[in-house]
Amino acid sequence: NSAPLRELHVALVGMAGSGKSAVAVKYITKRFIGEYDSTLEDNYCRQETVGGQCLMVWMMDTVESATKDEMRWIAWADVYVVIYDVTSQLSFQYAEGILERISRHEHVLCPREHRTLLVGNKSDLERYRQVSETEGERLASQHKAYFAECSAASDLRQFTQSLHSIFQNIISGARS
Ligand code: GDP
Ligand code: MG
Repeated sequence: NSAPLRELHVALVGMAGSGKSAVAVKYITKRFIGEYDSTLEDNYCRQETVGGQCLMVWMMDTVESATKDEMRWIAWADVYVVIYDVTSQLSFQYAEGILERISRHEHVLCPREHRTLLVGNKSDLERYRQVSETEGERLASQHKAYFAECSAASDLRQFTQSLHSIFQNIISGARS
């Protein structure tokens, strides 16, 4: 009685240096690798079971560039993961800009509410923190997004839990 494999597309977006590649690699392989080519755009996939549903999770580790269509990920993705670096106020402002861009596209997409996850990465660097957890939570709730802090270097649990909650929403939405 194997349920059919369901594909889910997750786009990781955020300012360069915020840790998109590190989070993607950690999520897919469970390993933290120190350095990534910041110009490389990559797709990763992992099969996993969430709520009894077998999923093929595709992650697009995006790189923004002036020459490419910046928003090509917006129609592709079922889930948006907007990442900033808690030690960089600038990356937080950048994340806010992306959340606003996603909101502006909502009318042309299927309902995207509760399909966005705002992530404050590098929570291991507490000494250098520039963005409080409260600020992150507030921005997320303004955009009806989930919120998690995580560290690709040491602890991805909050990230994984929030992502799985979104997967559950999508799965149950499809059934009803
Ligand atoms: P991207 O440009 O958004 O893909 O960012 P990267 O994944 O390339 O990460 C940028 C830099 O931050 C790299 O040197 C990573 O090793 C580092 N980095 C990423 N995530 C973390 C983290 O959670 N903690 C710490 N301490 N460093 C991180
Ligand atoms: Mg990268």
